[in-house]
Amino acid sequence: MRGLEVALRIPFDNTYVSLPERFHAAATPAAPRGPELIAFNEALARELGVERGETSDDELARLLGGNELPAGAQPIAAVYAGHQFGHPVPRLGDGRAILLGEVVGAAGRRDLQLKGAGRTAYSRGGDGRSPLGPVLREYLVSEAMHALGVPTTRALAAVATGEPVFRERGPEPGAVMTRVAASHLRVGTFEYFARTDKDDLATLLDYALERHDPDLAGAEDRAFAFFERVARRTLGLVAQWWRVGFIHGVMNTDNTSISGETIDYGPCAFMDTFDPAQVYSSIDRTGRYRFENQAPIALWNLSILASCLVPLIDPEDPDRAVARLEEALGGYQAIWEGAWLAAMAPKLGIEHPEPADGELIRAFLGRFEVKGLDYTNAWRALPYELDADEPLYARWRERLDRQGQPREEVVARMNAANPYLIPRNHQVARAIELGESGDFSHFHALHAALARPYEERLELEPFTAPPRADEVVHKTFCGT
Ligand code: AMP
Ligand code: MG
Repeated sequence: MRGLEVALRIPFDNTYVSLPERFHAAATPAAPRGPELIAFNEALARELGVERGETSDDELARLLGGNELPAGAQPIAAVYAGHQFGHPVPRLGDGRAILLGEVVGAAGRRDLQLKGAGRTAYSRGGDGRSPLGPVLREYLVSEAMHALGVPTTRALAAVATGEPVFRERGPEPGAVMTRVAASHLRVGTFEYFARTDKDDLATLLDYALERHDPDLAGAEDRAFAFFERVARRTLGLVAQWWRVGFIHGVMNTDNTSISGETIDYGPCAFMDTFDPAQVYSSIDRTGRYRFENQAPIALWNLSILASCLVPLIDPEDPDRAVARLEEALGGYQAIWEGAWLAAMAPKLGIEHPEPADGELIRAFLGRFEVKGLDYTNAWRALPYELDADEPLYARWRERLDRQGQPREEVVARMNAANPYLIPRNHQVARAIELGESGDFSHFHALHAALARPYEERLELEPFTAPPRADEVVHKTFCGT
């Protein structure tokens, strides 16, 4: 038999591990007793330059489950801090995630991380494990987000551990997910070093620039310019969440990525019936992270990042830095509205949005809300309602007439902005329920369906149906 180390080739090129030791702690994945491959994302592997070669499923399960380390991996856990539900926590860190290293693929540098592979220096009271349910949810939802065109971390593999994980409801099957991210730098990473050491904070900024905004590396006013970039990415991301009806559920600063990717698929969910105040997370009792509050929260999280960057923006005069940042933050409401309009207007077929279009979009949203319509299906149905005999629709037609484009073109724009398929909660729940009894057929079927979410296909119609009353998912839970 070939050695495991020559089977799977991951072209590691690690940089985070070279940062000072204050940034991370060595970590060893726990070897699961009965690793079994659930899914391996061949398409993503190719993008990353990861070569599977002749590696069998069993070998893959051992390599991405934590039994063996792929050659070139340098496993570490990263430290960070964060504000959880508005409250500062001075030290968090990868408590149930281990960074294997980085690869430089077609889309640039990516982290490869095992999630749920056992305890690290930052696990606190936790076991560092993940039940199967959250792994299947993250795999399905993050890959669906990617297919929907929303910036996101991705899923390279899911491996069942063959070991139980103990949570509130008793023992559950365990699993490990390989997460791929543009980086795992968060607002919380800046919070940690803003509290601990100014030189480390400067090192972190340089590293973040190198990775996400290399054009700003070495620039005169780079800390401030970096802040503006992160702000635009973050607001652009939340606008995309609006477009597809996604509720993150736990937008703590430690779950807010510097890269502008959706990260941490804990209690996340897509809305069925449109309700701007929708909350699914069982731990979000005040509705802090409800659908309509995601942009205000993004701005709040950005204000935390701003406060961390003050000493780097103007070391001589912090007051001047604060004034600049406050001014910038004040302007972000307008940036948000622009991002929102840019994401939402194509849903009505509008090509070049104008500020007044916001009102039209809001009028449709108001109609969906009053009628209790399914968010996804209501948008997707609009092309069939173009001739509806109602004042709102007449207004919409006038707006489209001004564009002077053929109807097919307008409809094509709408269908590229309004998904036919989303990972509906009850479908994800069913994939998990069956998966827990060892049947992954629904997981795979759902995953395959979601790969082309804008394409209408009759055989996939069952996946487009809103839940029956007895199928509605009211609460989602973190993987913790
Ligand atoms: P989250 O709310 O999922 O972003 O997690 C917040 C923090 O708790 C992070 O530092 C996680 O690493 C840590 N954490 C969550 N679940 C576990 C677990 N089962 N074991 C150890 N640490 C955990
Ligand atoms: Mg997290």
